[in-house]
Amino acid sequence: MKILADLHVHTLASGHAYSTIEETAKAAAAKGLEMIAITDHGPAMPGGPHQYYFGNLRVLPPEIHGVEILRGAEVNILDEQGSLDLQEYYLKRLDIVLAGLHNVCMEPLCQKKNTKALVNALQNPYVDIIVHPGNPDFPIDMEKVVQTAKQQNKALEINNSSFLVRKGSRKPCREIARLAREYGILVSISSDSHFSGNVGELDLAVEVALDAGIPAENILNINGDRVRRFLARRGKRRFVSQSDGK
Ligand SMILES: [Zn+2]
Ligand SMILES: [Zn+2]
Repeated sequence: MKILADLHVHTLASGHAYSTIEETAKAAAAKGLEMIAITDHGPAMPGGPHQYYFGNLRVLPPEIHGVEILRGAEVNILDEQGSLDLQEYYLKRLDIVLAGLHNVCMEPLCQKKNTKALVNALQNPYVDIIVHPGNPDFPIDMEKVVQTAKQQNKALEINNSSFLVRKGSRKPCREIARLAREYGILVSISSDSHFSGNVGELDLAVEVALDAGIPAENILNINGDRVRRFLARRGKRRFVSQSDGK
């Protein structure tokens, strides 16, 4: 299976990633990707950018080295109410918003409260994808999170880096993938790259998705066209105007 869009990519602005947007786009082009989403960490991440960074992403061209560039963010969920570290003013201007739990921004709570944090974030109209829901540091009621993603028509992520950097991810990620297939929700298979050479590296996550029997039609980022249609349905300005709201 060839996946042509990588919707979770970090650059220098994240404070602990090591390539520019230009270098990352070049690497993505060399790998034959059609689209990448630049999703630097929100301002609550130590070393993360000021929120002005996200406001000014509009200066980026829509395509670099022939790769379509989505202006995005990986925002931090800050509490069980699902509060985010980027104001609505910025969220509504982005092409794509990922949200996730990071233990430097929110101490892991009990399973019930971690679940509530993700459920509330999924109900935020600007959030499109919940990233690394299989993070073993944050035990959750997976079925409840998958059901909420289904109700809200949003995607959950299978994060390739989790298998490299988040110890103990295999089992919870397999369980998320199994439930994603059972409920027929969309999944985003993403690299979460923090260096240009890792953009589009998805093999470990693809294997988990295939083992769970997730069909290709439920993989959100299989190509740019499917992502554009998803974002148009989600009311994202850039894509609503392109598709005339269809
Ligand atoms: Zn993350
Ligand atoms: Zn990330």
